[in-house]
Amino acid sequence: MNLLSDRILNMSTSATLEMAAKARELRAEGKDIIGLSLGEPDFNTPDYIKEAAIQAIHDNYSSYTPVDGYVELKDAIIKKFKRDNGLTYNRSQIVVSTGAKQSLANVAAILINKGDEVIIPCPYWVSYADLVKLNDGIPVEVPTTIATDFKMTPEQLEAAITPKTKMLWYSSPCNPSGSVYSKEELRGLADVLLKHPHIIVVSDEIYEHINFVGKHASMAGFEDMYDRTITINGVSKAFAMTGWRIGYMGGPEIFARACNKMQGQITSGANSIAQRAVITALNESPSRVQFMIDEFKVRRDLVLDLLKDVEGFKTNIPEGAFYVFPNISYYFGKTLRGKTINNAADFSLYLLEEALVATVDGGAFGNPDCIRLSYAASQDQIVEAMARIKAAVN
Ligand code: PMP
Ligand code: GLU
Repeated sequence: MNLLSDRILNMSTSATLEMAAKARELRAEGKDIIGLSLGEPDFNTPDYIKEAAIQAIHDNYSSYTPVDGYVELKDAIIKKFKRDNGLTYNRSQIVVSTGAKQSLANVAAILINKGDEVIIPCPYWVSYADLVKLNDGIPVEVPTTIATDFKMTPEQLEAAITPKTKMLWYSSPCNPSGSVYSKEELRGLADVLLKHPHIIVVSDEIYEHINFVGKHASMAGFEDMYDRTITINGVSKAFAMTGWRIGYMGGPEIFARACNKMQGQITSGANSIAQRAVITALNESPSRVQFMIDEFKVRRDLVLDLLKDVEGFKTNIPEGAFYVFPNISYYFGKTLRGKTINNAADFSLYLLEEALVATVDGGAFGNPDCIRLSYAASQDQIVEAMARIKAAVN
C-alpha cells in the first residue's frame, strides 16, 4: 500500500510554480537567472490599496471573516461586475475566496462527478486539467493552433460534446496564449451550448483588464447563458496583488451556496486584511491601474519585435494577459551545444541552463510544441533575456 493517496500521486506538480522555485534556487546559488516563468506582475501593489490594508490592521480586522466574504467586499464585487461587465448579481451569488485558484478548485469540487467530462480548449492554464482529474473528472482537451489564434471554434466545441459533458472551462484573455475571445466569438460558442442545456460554463476572467484590443466580453453577459455560467475573477493580476490571495466567483445561487459550503470545510473565509484592501481596489476606478496595462502592452510589442529575430520561434499576436506562447517545434530533433532537443521540456531546460532564462514547458498547458514566456518583467530584463535566447540557439 502506498503511504500517499492515489489522489496526490496522480497529480502533476504545478509547472509554473515548479519552474519559479527552480529559478529561485539557481539564483540563491549565485546564477544570474532572468525569470520569465511566473505569471506575476513585477509592479508593487498601488499605495492606495496598501493604505486600506494598513487602516484595516489599525481598525482590528483580526477575527474570522464570513466564509463567503465581508458584505462590503461582496457589494464592491457586485458593483464591479455591473460597472465593468454589465453583469447583475446579488450577495447570495458571490463567494470570495483565497485566490481565483481556490474559486476554480471549489467549482470543480462542487460540480464534477466521477467520469464527467470537462471540455478545456488547449492551451489552457496549468491547473485546469489537474483540478478536473482531482475530482475524478475527465479533461477533454480541444487542441488549437496559431492558425486560429489558439481559439476554439464552434465546430470544435460541437464535436467535443457528449452526453457526459459537464462543463466548458476556459480563460479569456487566455493564459498562456494571450488570446482574447471577442463577443461574437463567444456568441458562436454560446449558440452551440444552447443546444446542450446540461453544460455549465466556467469563464476565468482574471486577465480581464489586461486586454489590448478593447472591450472584455463575458459569457454570462448573454441572457441565455447567465443561468449556466460561473464567472471567476480576482485581483492578483490587474492590481499586482498576487500575494494577497483574494479571488471570487459570481454565478447562480445554487453554485455559490455550494462553494460556500465547500470552503466552510476547507479554508473558512479569506484573509481579513486582504479583503479590506480589495474593497478599496475594486471600488476605485480601474483607470487607476491602467498605467500597468499600458506598460504590459509596450512590453508585449517589445517581445514580439525581438522574437522576430530569433530563428524558429513562431507566435500568434497575444491580445491580452502577459504571456507569449511561441511554437518552437523547429528545434525538435536538433542538437544545440551537444544537447538534443526532443520536446518543449528539453528546450525550456536548455534555455534555463544555457541562456539562464526561465520559461515554462508548453506541455504543462496542453501544447508540447510551445513554451511560455511571461513578459511581466522589466524592459531591460526582456531585452537581455531575448539577447541571451538568441545567442543560445544560434
Ligand atoms: N486563472 C488563471 C488563468 C491564472 O493565470 C491564474 C494565475 N495565478 C489564476 C487563475 C489564479 O490566480 P490567483 O492568484 O487569484 O489564485
Ligand atoms: N498564474 C500564474 C502563472 O500561470 C501564477 C502561477 C500559478 O498560480 O500557477 O504563472
